[in-house]
Amino acid sequence: MKNPKKILIANRGVIAIRALRAAKELGYQVASVYSTIDKDQKHLKLSDEAICIGPAASKDSYLNEAAIIAAAELVGADAIYPGYGFLAENSSFAEKCNQSGFKFVGPDPKVIEIMGDKIKAKELIESLGVPIVPGYTGNIQSQDQIENIVDEIGYPVIVKASAGGGGKGMRVVEKKKDLWDCVISAQNEAQLAFGNGEVFIEKYLQKPRHIEVQVFGDGKGKVVHLYSRDCSLQRRYQKIVEEAPAINLPQDKLNEIQNICVKACSELKYEGAGTLEFLYENNEFYFIEMNTRIQVEHTVTEMITGVDLVQAQLSLALEDRFDLEQDKLKINGHAMQCRINAEDPETFIPSPGKISNVHRPGGYHVRFESQIYSGYEVPSNYDSLIAEVIVKDGDRENTINKMRMALTELVVEGIKTNQPLHLKILDDNGFKNVDYYIKYLEEELIK
Ligand code: ADP
Repeated sequence: MKNPKKILIANRGVIAIRALRAAKELGYQVASVYSTIDKDQKHLKLSDEAICIGPAASKDSYLNEAAIIAAAELVGADAIYPGYGFLAENSSFAEKCNQSGFKFVGPDPKVIEIMGDKIKAKELIESLGVPIVPGYTGNIQSQDQIENIVDEIGYPVIVKASAGGGGKGMRVVEKKKDLWDCVISAQNEAQLAFGNGEVFIEKYLQKPRHIEVQVFGDGKGKVVHLYSRDCSLQRRYQKIVEEAPAINLPQDKLNEIQNICVKACSELKYEGAGTLEFLYENNEFYFIEMNTRIQVEHTVTEMITGVDLVQAQLSLALEDRFDLEQDKLKINGHAMQCRINAEDPETFIPSPGKISNVHRPGGYHVRFESQIYSGYEVPSNYDSLIAEVIVKDGDRENTINKMRMALTELVVEGIKTNQPLHLKILDDNGFKNVDYYIKYLEEELIK
């Protein structure tokens, strides 16, 4: 009998244990990597092998490409699973994995590269028929030139870094007198943060919702969508609550957008899981970016479609198996995810440290994705996401009620978390009525 294939998980935290479970359920062997400070993570104990790849600082461990490839070599991995964050959207790392004989679980590095450059991505996506936010992606030559262009677009506008990510390198400009200074400072900030000072300009939408479409392709032109998500509840451009499907939208328009996404990704021969992100305002959808990886919020899509997206990624990458058929993908119920972060619920200051006690919520259609256990120490070196509470019910109202119960049951002691903020959100009328926008949390709820 053939030996089971082996996956190397090149990540940590919530996505690492998520991927470990998916891989083990499929019968694969799992090797994991970790930094010295992460040696007590639960998924390492469940892995067949665990390799230390460096000290706590991400640049020396989870971003250390050579160490990860060496670990893959050492364990004889067939594939490298990048998860999200760290090297997940690094096209040169993806290329190195493939060239070293370890299949990078994700799309073609060339597609990752284009989508990582927001100017190229917007231009390409627009050419494939997807509506984008009006703006300017051409060369910025002089103050006069750019002021004339923005006069045409109309204020306010947002200056964004082409290589940007995580909400960094963006500037909202309300008035002409501030435009040139903002362009220059955004260019400088982008150069420092991303090593690429290219910026572009978009119309700044005032109160849009963030709606995204999950796609999955076989890499040969067959692509399906797995419907939509609403991720409008954000703080500092970071998502806090996510839902699937997105509701209170014109259904015909949403269907059209989903189909356009499928068509565009099929022309790209897109491989694996991807998300096209849109802003939605005044009945229109505007593409902002494509993420060429699994997202934190993939779980809510899994809950309503019954598709295990991580398993689908792994079976496509390792067995060339693609079982998804558009006409068999149906929405069942309404799902919601609350991201539990180790942070003060009012000041948002990170709250790392030892968790003295954990009680996980349970019940029908209640899911808890996390590594944490009593005695686990949350390090201060990484993202503050420590858990996801995910629930599903028949409709949104019942889903909110189920989430309230799940969050009430959840106990995390020893550190602070944003659990009280989530309970506040669930009881807010604007939230209940889907009457919100991307700045709603910051402007109306946590003023
Ligand atoms: P990043 O890659 O840094 O996450 P995005 O382009 O995805 O950058 O934008 C992040 C968030 O910034 C969006 O979810 C939205 O909240 C806000 N944003 C981006 N572009 C615009 C725009 N044109 N108008 C208003 N808000 C925007």
